[in-house]
Amino acid sequence: MSSSIILHIDDKADYFGLVLKTKSEGLVLGRPEGVSYGQQSSGSGGPGAKPILLREPCDLCGGDPRCVKICPTGCLSLEV
Ligand code: SF4
Repeated sequence: MSSSIILHIDDKADYFGLVLKTKSEGLVLGRPEGVSYGQQSSGSGGPGAKPILLREPCDLCGGDPRCVKICPTGCLSLEV
């Protein structure tokens, strides 16, 4: 509920994406079509989920991103 990152997976449509709230660039959307910035997320992470715009922006966990560490498929990485 307080995460700065939301993953969206639609198995039926074989589609996935994520939205990340950042301090400097607003919302960052990552999709198979590419990366885009500053758009309102259409997905909120499920019923009752706190909308991404109300959450704290990503602070990179002080340089040691936990989401990258725990991602079960290794699809997240930090590029600097
Ligand atoms: S780096 Fe940390 S604050 Fe940013 S999305 Fe990942 S877990 Fe959340």
